[in-house]
Parts: sequence; structure tokens; C-alpha cells
Amino acid sequence: MSAILPLLLANQTLYSWCSQAHQLNCSTSARQTSDRLFGTPYSALCHDFPAHLRTLTQRTRGQLGSPRELALRHTLLGYFLPTIDDKKAEEIIDLVTEGAIPCLKMRLGITASRVGGYHPLKLCPGCADEEQERLGYSYWHIEHQLPSSFVCLKHARPLVFLRDAITPVHRRYWVTPTDPQDCKLNEVRVPSETAMATLSRLARDSLELTTLSPGGLSPARAAGGYQRLLRERGLATSRGNLRVGQLVSLVRERYRGLDELPGMAPLSSVGHEWPGLAASLSRRKPQPGHPLKHLLLVGAITDSWKEFVQACEAGCGTATIGYQTNPRSTRDQDLTQFKQLVLEERMSISGASKIIGVSTTTGVQWAKRLGITYTSRSKSVSPAAIGEVRKLLAEGEHVDTIAISSGVSTSVVNRILGADDRLKALRSRSTFSHRKLVARTSFSHLCKSHSHLPLSELRKLPGNGYAWLYRNDRTWLSKALHRHGRPPSRDS
Ligand SMILES: [Zn+2]
Repeated sequence: MSAILPLLLANQTLYSWCSQAHQLNCSTSARQTSDRLFGTPYSALCHDFPAHLRTLTQRTRGQLGSPRELALRHTLLGYFLPTIDDKKAEEIIDLVTEGAIPCLKMRLGITASRVGGYHPLKLCPGCADEEQERLGYSYWHIEHQLPSSFVCLKHARPLVFLRDAITPVHRRYWVTPTDPQDCKLNEVRVPSETAMATLSRLARDSLELTTLSPGGLSPARAAGGYQRLLRERGLATSRGNLRVGQLVSLVRERYRGLDELPGMAPLSSVGHEWPGLAASLSRRKPQPGHPLKHLLLVGAITDSWKEFVQACEAGCGTATIGYQTNPRSTRDQDLTQFKQLVLEERMSISGASKIIGVSTTTGVQWAKRLGITYTSRSKSVSPAAIGEVRKLLAEGEHVDTIAISSGVSTSVVNRILGADDRLKALRSRSTFSHRKLVARTSFSHLCKSHSHLPLSELRKLPGNGYAWLYRNDRTWLSKALHRHGRPPSRDS
């Protein structure tokens, strides 16, 4: 086995770590490195789903963590396993631990999904430059490799895709962010600020998905959540039949101009295929779907990922959805990674805790234990956190979500927003068109489904959208009232 083991960073892919191990140990060939680490000639070159993890952990004396942790945090399995059935997910973990899995992409439902099973390597030039400066090397980030990640959340910029006729495993050397070999580099073209906000939400939700335990969002659970949400939004009848036209226009509006992006093929079929997809994800005997399809649907019908998870918990009537890290005991490796993230990568306590998978409270306890000085958020908020909050506010992100991801309280977020008129204007531009569509859809639906109710009663129903439309979209509201044969009430 390799004599020198590089540190596996918290968000580094296993493929990336292997290339470092190869370099550090001056191996003569990739095949030799792979053989030494995995006992097979090509596992180390597999960039999305490396297998034979038991051999790797034994030969690295457990320094990289358990096979399960490696699979879930440093390969794409952490993204694909939450949305399949619990039993199947555990079976796949066992198989990649002990050996390789024939037809893995078929088992994960990737082949049938028509999203495409080719996972191009992706990088953020901003991250690569910073790491080169700070660490002397750059690495492949797992959060950038997720099939629904198109932007870097840290730098709020599009990712660069590596286009290559040869998949990484068929090369006999590693491709690295600083040495992309003969691959073509294509930066994602983000057509507008609104599109940037949509893609940022998609990237954030993708990251949230990877924190769920395998099978945590199994088809049955997700279906319960969709049924509930679609009904609440007036996008399905009480018997669960989809209102196809409304759903299609909502999704089209949300992802306008993004169907040309690499890997976004499901969007181009919105119209003739999308209702079938939404139906298959939400029916009582649901079909499993590619995570990207879930993320697109969730992004279109909710204001936040949290809202979807809550709907799933309420919809299936069973226990709360499990997270990868729950329950979990502290390991030395977690502490080492935590220390490295905070001291070397200069991350906030809350940011580092999130990556390791523990609560901020635990992170604060660890910081005390490790003698790391930090500023309590109740006393002051760092300029970096304020910058992050402002960025997310401008993108139209939900206040609760901003508070969680930036590690500040909701009152701090509201205070920052309240003090800045320009930020308010930017924020309202991002959220306005989405809200308008949701309010119009909900209101029209209620007018039809409660045609016997007087308008004054209709306005008392939860989520009716009337007040918002009255303030922001009055011309449309007057026409809609007229169309539904309802004269405006005197007090409106
Ligand atoms: Zn970046």
C-alpha cells in the first residue's frame, strides 16, 4: 500500500484523493496505485462511483473513515441513495464495500431516467485559485460534481464542465482541476440573474439532499410529500389528479432558458412528458425518479427544501426523515477535519459543522475543546456572514433557509434586509415573478373549487393569494374576478 497518505478533505472526492496519493508516492503507473489502494487496477480512476471500499479502508488503516462514510460523502452515492428504497440502498452500500457492482447505474435508476449517466468533472475556477494559493494544490469538490450543480455557491459563479471523449476511468492517469489534460473546458452559460438565483437554489437543495440517509427520501415518502404540496398549491385535485396545464406553466416559468444546460434534458421535455413525470413521482405506487427530477419539481412547487421535507414527514405519517449523521458518535477524524476547515480553510463554525454533519451547537463545543477562538453570533456577526446573508437575500432565498445556511438568527437576516432599500429592491425582483405565478395559480384554483363561497369567505382560506394579488397584481386580479363571475367586495 501507499506509504504516504494525503489528508482526505471533507468535501473532496475519493477520485481526487487517489490522484494526490499517486503523486505523493511517486508511483510509476495509475494501475499500480489503484492496485495498491483497492486491490484492483482501475477503481482509483473511477470518478463517480469507486468500489472495493473495504480493501481501501483496510489498506489505509481506517484513516479515511469507514467504507460507508467514504461511499456517502466522497462519491456520488451520497446523492443517489437517499431517493431509492432503503433496502436497495443498503444493499448497494454493502456491494460497493465488498467489491464492484455490475450494472450499478441501472440499479440506481440512472439508465432508465434519460437524464444521462455521464457525469462530467466540474470545477469552480475561483475555488481552484484559492486552494492553489492556500494549499498548494486544488481538488475536485463533491458538491460541484452533483449532477444538478451548475454553480459554485461559495463564489456565486457558474461551474466549468470538462468535456472529454474519454471517461476518466478509461484514461490511465488522473485529470485534476489544475491539469485538465486535453479536455475541453466549457463554462456554464447562465442567461440572467434570475437564472443564477434558480441554479443557486438547485445547488443548495442538491447539497441538502446529500445529507439525508440512504432511503431517507424513498419513493413512497417523497410521493406523500408531493401529494400534499400539489394539493395545497392547487396543482392537484383533492383526489390527487394533476392540473397539468398549471403545473407545466409553473415549471416552464421557473426554469425558463435553462433547458440548454448540459444534463438538463428533462426540462426540454416539459410539456408533453412533465405531467407524466410529476404523476409518476407523486402517485400512490410511485416510480423511483432520478434525484435531478425530484430537485426540479421541488424547486418549482416550494419556497424551500425544508418545506418539502416537512411535507414528506407530514404526508407519510411516519417517523421524521433520517439524516446521514443521526445518530453518530464523535470520531477523531471528524475533529481533525473540523479543525482543518475552521483554521486552514477559514470557514465559520456553522459552515464547518454543516460539512461534517453535526449541529452548530456541537461545532461550538468542539471549537472550545480544540481551543479555537470564535465570536459568538449573539454578540456580533462576521462581515463574511453578513456578505453571505446579503447575497442570498438578493437572490430571493427564503429567510429561514438563509439563517440556517449562514449560521445567524432570522432576526439578524431581517435586520440586514430592513436596513437596505437597494437590497430589498433586488430581492423583490428575484422573488416577484415566482410568487406571482404561485398566487395566481392558487387563487384561480380556489375560485373554481369553492365557487359556492362568497369572496369574503374565500379570502379567509389559507394560501388564497388574494391579498398579495390585490397589492401586486391588481389588473390581473380584476380580470380573474370578472372571469369567475365575482364582483370585488366593497372592502377590497
Ligand atoms: Zn468556488
